[in-house]
Amino acid sequence: MADVSDRVKSMPPYLFSVIQKKKKELEASGMDIIDLGIGAPDLPTPAFIIDRLVEETKKPNNHRYSTYHGCTEFREAVAAYYKRCYNVEVDPETEVLTLIGSKEGIAHMIMAMMNPGETALIPDPGYPVYRSAVHLIGGDSVYLPLDTSGSYEPKFSEISRETYETTKLMLLNYPSNPTAATTDFNTFLKAVTLARQHDFSLIHDAAYSDLTFKGYKAPSILQVEGAKDVAVEFGSLSKTFNMTGWRIGYAVGNKAMIKALSIVKSNMDTCQFLPIQKAAAEALNSDFSTVRESIAIYEERMEIVLAALKEIGITVEPPKGTFFIWAPVPEGYTSSGFAEKMLVDAGVIITPGPAFGPSGEGYFRLSLSVDTDRLKQAMERMKTFYTKGVQEWIKK
Ligand SMILES: *Cc1c(COP(=O)(O)O)cnc(C)c1O
Repeated sequence: MADVSDRVKSMPPYLFSVIQKKKKELEASGMDIIDLGIGAPDLPTPAFIIDRLVEETKKPNNHRYSTYHGCTEFREAVAAYYKRCYNVEVDPETEVLTLIGSKEGIAHMIMAMMNPGETALIPDPGYPVYRSAVHLIGGDSVYLPLDTSGSYEPKFSEISRETYETTKLMLLNYPSNPTAATTDFNTFLKAVTLARQHDFSLIHDAAYSDLTFKGYKAPSILQVEGAKDVAVEFGSLSKTFNMTGWRIGYAVGNKAMIKALSIVKSNMDTCQFLPIQKAAAEALNSDFSTVRESIAIYEERMEIVLAALKEIGITVEPPKGTFFIWAPVPEGYTSSGFAEKMLVDAGVIITPGPAFGPSGEGYFRLSLSVDTDRLKQAMERMKTFYTKGVQEWIKK
């Protein structure tokens, strides 16, 4: 048997693949499963982006390797987007890097910044990639507690001075996956101040920055004066433009961090297919009307879910961002017990909160990325589950 590395051996299985396996088994046994565990949009990529991809794909010059740090058109589109949306100036040559999705970018940035044995502060609950990436390079994760009473703001004051002094990197993510929490400029100001004071670097994962509701506009950490001295922000086309499978994102901010990331990456990959970068530039340079259309769809779905949850006694504040609902499990259940019950007895997949860290216990995440009919059906099943328990009728 191949003897794989200790770091790989000690990796917990990626929770989402465990659930997908269980789903397949139940479907094979004839059950109709509604998957509200998915962390990706169900909506199609807007046509104008596909059109540009097709056009660029026909040009032989675009069939070659891209430059390592990405084509100029894409990096300039990112810089123009920062100027337009946040009034932040960034140099597309030295402060912007093209990524093959922000997930690889974040993981490789952790590799570029940390030595084995060093510490990263990561949000709890938070996106599981942060912890896995720190583990894979032999670093230690320390949980940054979030205010679980509702705001999910970082509780910076609960971290000791010693921990701050040994911290190499702090990760933040607003609007948040999984909690759908949003934040304001002041939180970023505090984070930047702490980073300067204790000499650590900051990563802000802004994967949902443009999926916001009801007039809320998510701030960029780079709007904080001096943020570029300590921080890099990661953006992605995946959720904003329904482009998860295209694999395109970007890193923006501190020159030294961007440089370090590009050194790691240039030894591992050779950037993204040029037509994808150009189509993504087209998206970022657009008027974002397609993004507003997606938002309207998520808002409609959100109302269905929030109303149904209310009927069964779960009150959730309407989120101001992402396409997730983060809700408490009913009394008498653990998160995983409830998720298991919902899957086996109601045929609905939800994600148990602890998949995102220990503070997720007592909560579940539900995704709004299924159409309204299916969503209504899922909520009906959930309601019936609450009142009657096991449902024979879901078995086809
Ligand atoms: C989806 C997601 C990402 C990764 O997006 P890609 O750009 O597709 O790699 C990063 N962070 C969070 C919090 C996400 O939910």
